[in-house]
Amino acid sequence: MTPIKQILEQSAAGHSHLCPRQVLGVRLGLLGCETFGIEVPDKEKRLIIIMETDGCAVDGVSAATGCTVGNRRLRVLDYGKIAATFVDMQSANAIRIVPRIDIREEAQRWVADAECKWTAQLKAYQIIPNNELLDVQPVTLSISLEELLSKPGYRVNCSTCGEEIINEREVYLEDSVLCRACAGESYYQLRVEEKQTAFRRNEQMNRLWMAGEDCE
Ligand SMILES: [Zn+2]
Ligand SMILES: [Zn+2]
Repeated sequence: MTPIKQILEQSAAGHSHLCPRQVLGVRLGLLGCETFGIEVPDKEKRLIIIMETDGCAVDGVSAATGCTVGNRRLRVLDYGKIAATFVDMQSANAIRIVPRIDIREEAQRWVADAECKWTAQLKAYQIIPNNELLDVQPVTLSISLEELLSKPGYRVNCSTCGEEIINEREVYLEDSVLCRACAGESYYQLRVEEKQTAFRRNEQMNRLWMAGEDCE
């Protein structure tokens, strides 16, 4: 069994089916590792991957590289693109890999006898050579590696909602430490009754803090 078949089996098991985008994800992951001379899966933990979409391709990339959202070695910045940037922590070099624009048509040419376009893609994406399937672009990150990784053990509480913020994702506004939601970047709005509960919880927390300060 070839490594790609093994990886695809692994990917499909976690995904409940195998699909063309998972195969593309696996190919992205394999080429990312190959470019930096990293064995798959990346047991040395050299890679940080930024995926530009969620969905099937992410499972493929994870199956190939061992980098997952859970182990913090894969981030999703959702640009709605099947593309990934691989950062080699050892050299700090980064490459962005993106499927070539014509791969759907190319798939029909490679597997002309497939019963449908989907099957042609599923099969072709496993066999089309890297240079005909994917483009590799050397890139420089606009955010620093330190920012991307942050300090995993670090935590503070938001001075407005009181909730704990980990991984240095807090925002400093004048003298206040705020979570991104309280700093105005919220993707949700609390309902009125929940706002009151949150306010009471916050008041209680402030009292605890004051009491703590008195003891010092
Ligand atoms: Zn899928
Ligand atoms: Zn907050």
